[in-house]
Amino acid sequence: MSKDFLVQLCELIGQPFVLTESSDQKKYVSDWFGRASGKAIAVARPSSTQEVANIVKLCQKYQISIVPQGGNTGLVGGGLPDNSGKELVLSLERMNKVRTIDLMGKTITVDTGLILANLHQSAKEHGMEFPLTMGSQGSATIGGMLSTNAGGTSVVRYGNARDLCLGLEVVTAEGEIWNGLRTLRKNNTGYDLKDLYIGAEGTLGIITGAVLKLIPTPKVKLSALLSLESPSAAISLLEFVQNKANSQLTAFELISDTCLSLVDHYFPQYSYPFASKTPYCVLLEISDTESESHAFDLLNSILEESIEKALITDAIIPQSIMQSNRFWEIREHIPLSQVEDGKNVKHDISLPISLIPTFLEKARLLVLEAFPSARIIDFGHLGDGNIHYNVAAPLHSSPEEFMQNKATINDMIHELVHDMDGSISAEHGIGANKAHELVKFKSPIELELMRQIKNSLDPRGIFNPHKILL
Ligand SMILES: Cc1cc2nc3c(=O)[nH]c(=O)nc-3n(C[C@H](O)[C@H](O)[C@H](O)COP(=O)(O)OP(=O)(O)OC[C@H]3O[C@@H](n4cnc5c(N)ncnc54)[C@H](O)[C@@H]3O)c2cc1C
Repeated sequence: MSKDFLVQLCELIGQPFVLTESSDQKKYVSDWFGRASGKAIAVARPSSTQEVANIVKLCQKYQISIVPQGGNTGLVGGGLPDNSGKELVLSLERMNKVRTIDLMGKTITVDTGLILANLHQSAKEHGMEFPLTMGSQGSATIGGMLSTNAGGTSVVRYGNARDLCLGLEVVTAEGEIWNGLRTLRKNNTGYDLKDLYIGAEGTLGIITGAVLKLIPTPKVKLSALLSLESPSAAISLLEFVQNKANSQLTAFELISDTCLSLVDHYFPQYSYPFASKTPYCVLLEISDTESESHAFDLLNSILEESIEKALITDAIIPQSIMQSNRFWEIREHIPLSQVEDGKNVKHDISLPISLIPTFLEKARLLVLEAFPSARIIDFGHLGDGNIHYNVAAPLHSSPEEFMQNKATINDMIHELVHDMDGSISAEHGIGANKAHELVKFKSPIELELMRQIKNSLDPRGIFNPHKILL
């Protein structure tokens, strides 16, 4: 049966685009860290929405499950097949074109296999910007970004992927094509279907096209690194800067000493930026539509007043745009230095912003009581209440051995988050890795409504089984 399926799949999209050899499949069946992996019956790489629809119909006929995949940078196993060798990975990577740009309406319509960095480039060529940036943008695709409702560094100003999307084209579980590629800013005509598919992690349909919002490119973006004593000081600083810079504040990232030290250790070219150690620092960015000098004036006055108000202890003001960009390179090297450091227990959590200092203190006490020498690597998008709270093995001990405590640490942190009205997934999604936890933290009625939606849009469960909902 699987032979017939593969023969027909090759007829639909061409043999070179159906990968069955394990050596060819490797990059599609293991995650960005190269740590989680699965097996697939094949990897299909269609080139058009019609081909995607034809594949879905074929999979319905043979009852083959489909795992939609973009850049495979999601970190929760959502885009990976299980170990059965029976699921089909459907990679959107060949569907990577910009379809149209509407400069007056400030929208761009794209294939969803388009890589985020390439979208940025296309928008830039037209004097526009797509204001969602993140460390994985060189590989992450628009389909993956929408399916995980990705956040990134500018949510504090522009919102997450959902806020930046106006319309979708989706292939349904029956292999039909829903053309919802609307460019409308207002459309109150019943249930908003696109909002169901956004954040669904490929469990309800395959997103093949999208209309996204653009903004005029700011004249300049400037960043500064500010050292401070505590997360509470960071919250006070956030409030002050939001009042002072208003919509010009486009990023506000919290970074702990452990992160700066880790980057310094593994990537010495990004040495510890301050003269002396600081418990925490904030990387903030302002965007200015007027001029570079206007931006520097605003940044300087923010920093002067922050020092006067004793909100910060030190500041590094960039001498050039290049130096400003370099601060972001330090930020982007935090996940990379964690890869070098070995496995750690990760949490991508969000909380009401005002509760973050309390959470960090409570979590620290809990973790260190149970694992006295563990290293806490905490950083995140403080402006959105989103912290990446990672717990690493004590120095000079085995990360592999420490990972045996993963479930205990996950429970500890996620229960604290839940008790404080937070979320156990802020931006990476639930995927396969957190599905067993979702049942603990969502109410029965919420889970039941989610199951009803899944059953009505994908009654035979062909799309991404065992992801989000077990
Ligand atoms: C270094 C690094 C930094 C990151 N930083 C951030 C960050 O700051 N903010 C943030 O939000 N996230 C961040 N992420 C994770 C982020 O979720 C992913 O980078 C991205 O959103 C997923 O895109 P992708 O194309 O790689 O999707 P994949 O990993 O391929 O897939 C993700 C999920 O979407 C589904 N999917 C993919 N394409 C489609 C489609 N066309 N239709 C339906 N379903 C689909 C998959 O089945 C899977 O469930 C980071 C990841 C890394 C590795």
